[in-house]
Amino acid sequence: MSIKQNLQNIKDTIPNEVTLVAVSKTKPIPDLQEAYNAGQRIFGENKIQEMVQKWETLPKDIEWHMIGHVQRNKVKYMAKFVSLIHGVDSLKLLTEINKQAAKHNRIIPCLLQVHIATEETKFGLNEEELNELLNSEDFKKLKNIQIKGLMGMATFTSDKSQIKKEFNSLKSIYNNTKNSIPTITILSMGMSGDYQIAIKEGSTMVRIGSSIFGVRNYK
Ligand SMILES: *Cc1c(COP(=O)(O)O)cnc(C)c1O
Repeated sequence: MSIKQNLQNIKDTIPNEVTLVAVSKTKPIPDLQEAYNAGQRIFGENKIQEMVQKWETLPKDIEWHMIGHVQRNKVKYMAKFVSLIHGVDSLKLLTEINKQAAKHNRIIPCLLQVHIATEETKFGLNEEELNELLNSEDFKKLKNIQIKGLMGMATFTSDKSQIKKEFNSLKSIYNNTKNSIPTITILSMGMSGDYQIAIKEGSTMVRIGSSIFGVRNYK
């Protein structure tokens, strides 16, 4: 099936108020152009260098989302154009984003990544660390970043009840966080394999790659 068709199929199954991020990591420019021609304007990448190259080549009305783990020394390459950084999980990283955003007179929207999966390897804060960060004086001084919400990834498993439980726990952390920061509006959860569960559990933004562009070939 074509990229256009895949996009349409997904749009038909998600509510209007849920934002679709087309995860185009590892995919060549013509694939992204095809999605763009079909009306897609939000793309997600997980490597800064790759995102910069695509940003340089493709139309400038695209919103670029960084969905991968960000190395602090590379923030400077995306600071002038990135629309949303999903995977922020430390004050150190936020401080660097703030510094680079200030150089471009920007306020960069960020999501804080919360660890909900059972796997050790997934990045993210637990609820206590999240609250500690949000309540710290150093955080309050950062004027060039804006926390727009939370992001999380469920365990890679076929056990749907496990996935549901994890998304549900993220939703409740999101609700608690919204009490202290009423301006947050984004709960980024759900990928190709689990976005339907994520939406039922309250996701407002899904990050979908392989169901749009086909399986990825890592070389
Ligand atoms: C790759 C990736 C996705 C998309 O994964 P698919 O299973 O291809 O939809 C979503 N979120 C993050 C953080 C990713 O790294």
